[in-house]
Amino acid sequence: MSLNTEFRDAGRVKALLAAITPVADKVAARLGRPLQIMEVCGGHTHAIFRFGLHQLLPESIEFIHGPGCPVCVLPVEAVDQAVSLARRKNVILASFGDPLRVPGSRGSLLQAKAEGAGVKVLYSPFDALALAQNNPHKQVVFFAIGFDTTMPGIACSLLATDRAGITNLRFLCHHIRLMPTLTGLLEAGEIRLDGFVGPGHVSMVIGSRVYDPIASHYHKPLVIAGFEPVDFLQALYQLVRQLAEGRCAIENAYARVVKEAGNPAALKAIDRVFESGVDSHWRGLGTVPGSGVRVRDQYRHLDAAGLLETDVPVEADAGPAWCNAVLTGRIKPHQCPLFRRQCTPEHPAGALMVSSEGACAAYYQYRVGEVT
Ligand code: SF4
Repeated sequence: MSLNTEFRDAGRVKALLAAITPVADKVAARLGRPLQIMEVCGGHTHAIFRFGLHQLLPESIEFIHGPGCPVCVLPVEAVDQAVSLARRKNVILASFGDPLRVPGSRGSLLQAKAEGAGVKVLYSPFDALALAQNNPHKQVVFFAIGFDTTMPGIACSLLATDRAGITNLRFLCHHIRLMPTLTGLLEAGEIRLDGFVGPGHVSMVIGSRVYDPIASHYHKPLVIAGFEPVDFLQALYQLVRQLAEGRCAIENAYARVVKEAGNPAALKAIDRVFESGVDSHWRGLGTVPGSGVRVRDQYRHLDAAGLLETDVPVEADAGPAWCNAVLTGRIKPHQCPLFRRQCTPEHPAGALMVSSEGACAAYYQYRVGEVT
């Protein structure tokens, strides 16, 4: 199977566009406004612009860019905690690359590194075990962020640390779970949404069945999509068909990867290490009931929360208010007055410009010349 022949095939893309356009136009005419579709995942935002789908789709479809980029919703408080740990003489703060550039109230991890703090970029949380073993006189802390997609890897690394008896490695966990985040958005009712393009990567872990309340309780259709043009358009076609037929169901257009029950081994690892249902604060979203996790008591000795000073003042949500407006779909990135001016990927003023999955970074890279 080849991506170019199977999922980027121009003929299949044209056929799907020809199928989507009249259906979307008809529903939009009935509603008297464009359809408002939220693509939950930052990977989908990136795909829409990377493949130019926004230029091919009809104006009767408007995308609301969802909160599914973990770097974008990382709270200032989490960055400040990581920076304060990294500045300690005996600490090595290990992290994936993207979180390093997220601005906190006292600068970013990258700035701390430039000033001499012990910050190390790793590609896998498992590399933190070797880092700790090779630096026995240092306290290593892995900065663990992300949705349900990254949680199994972190959970397995933590379990491996415990099994190996490594005592100088801990995990600073700021994980966000997708389902409570989606239901929190719907409960808040701030955004008018007609349906969701469901995330492919998260769904690979949590499955498709878990979304049932989105249709049965909130009466919104959701179709899970992959990240190639044919994948995405197939899901969009199924979504607009549902809206045209007045149906509301959870459908899976990425069945080659996403199963109904998800990945049981990954879910088991998450459940073994993390207690879910913690009310947590996220950048741009505020406090979302039940969206966070905490490390279970059994593994508290590996939780870096125990290393934090309790008297550090917590900044609730620093950063430009425009980021909040983009994250909640009230403006598009290029409508932010800082876009391409004071805020660029080289010098991000807000978190949405940091990760390539951030809506602002996607607009910057693919919608060249657009400044309001
Ligand atoms: S352009 Fe920068 S400041 Fe404006 S919303 Fe995007 S990330 Fe935030």
